[in-house]
Amino acid sequence: PLILGIESTCDETGVALVRGRELLGDVTATSMDEYARYGGIIPEIASRAHLESFLPTLDAALERAEVDLGEVDAIAVSAGPGLVGSLTVGITAAKALAVSLGKPIYGVNHVIGHLAVDELVTGPLPERFIGLIVSGGHSNLLSIGDIATDVVELGGTLDDAAGEAFDKVGRLLGLPYPGGPHVDRLAREGDPGAIRFPRGLAAAKDRERHRYDFSFSGLKTAVARYIESLQDAGREVPQADVCAGFSEAVNDSLTAKAVAACQAADCSTLVVGGGFSANSRLRELAAQRCQEAGIELRIPPLRYCTDNGAQIAALGAAAVRAGVEPSPLDFAPDSSMPLDTIVAGSPTAP
Ligand code: ATP
Ligand code: FE
Ligand code: MG
Repeated sequence: PLILGIESTCDETGVALVRGRELLGDVTATSMDEYARYGGIIPEIASRAHLESFLPTLDAALERAEVDLGEVDAIAVSAGPGLVGSLTVGITAAKALAVSLGKPIYGVNHVIGHLAVDELVTGPLPERFIGLIVSGGHSNLLSIGDIATDVVELGGTLDDAAGEAFDKVGRLLGLPYPGGPHVDRLAREGDPGAIRFPRGLAAAKDRERHRYDFSFSGLKTAVARYIESLQDAGREVPQADVCAGFSEAVNDSLTAKAVAACQAADCSTLVVGGGFSANSRLRELAAQRCQEAGIELRIPPLRYCTDNGAQIAALGAAAVRAGVEPSPLDFAPDSSMPLDTIVAGSPTAP
């Protein structure tokens, strides 16, 4: 079946067409360039940008895929989590298309889509695997069977998400918004061993209770204190070394716990997804540690790490394949959609 996927959780308007596990075409428009001067996303501007971009993005995606709208068998759209105004634009457009074409609609979980997209790149997902989601809003470890019906949360961040922590450190260093990619770039020029920052939840009592959880806010505070102490002393801040030490601490925790989760569950595949999976040190360290542990690592190429329509079409296709019921036409955007709700209105199998 031919699935049309629509993404509009935040600032990207994404539309993609997927047949089975084949990506026929996808186009993404973003309003991110507008936010650098505000230092963050302005929801009102993002909603308006979605309104303006939707139809041109849909047309471009259909053209690239060389299909007609009438050939579409089902529509998938991000139901959440995300900004309510942004979500509403995509969901309203998707419902209008579903009604006018007389096709089913699946309101899918954007975050799970970050992992589903890898099917389009690497091929079918294994029967069971460990998922690591790292993005601006999430840092979670999941045990996954069928991606459309069986997702169990093993742990998550107790405070900041990995991307959020990078953005905050970027701000501390006076880098443009969003800081994540800038901190990553500077980190590559620095010495990761020059400054040793603390790993979150490393204390003995936390190691057991929070085996698969993360905490990055203490680390961020340590970075802030370090920067302040140098500034107070009138000394220059070694930006590259700060970024490298900070990046090492975040990625050490993420990769160590992901590998531990695979080993504890006897899973031989780790799938990583989300905007932060573009991070170069994460990709390097995950590859190294998975190889040492005999785990197959799957991380989508950079363009499928950031928010896109392909991740939504991929999860919609997986839902159709698994025989999941479509969402009721009156499903609402869910700004805090939980990770175990994969399709809006559809209960997740235990
Ligand atoms: P969610 O998917 O949880 O709803 P989101 O969609 O806002 O959150 P994404 O768009 O998936 O998040 O990811 C954006 C985040 O990824 C930002 O915090 C950004 O700084 C971060 N990011 C992107 N590239 C890099 C990189 N190379 N290194 C570190 N962080 C990065
Ligand atoms: Fe995302
Ligand atoms: Mg985003």
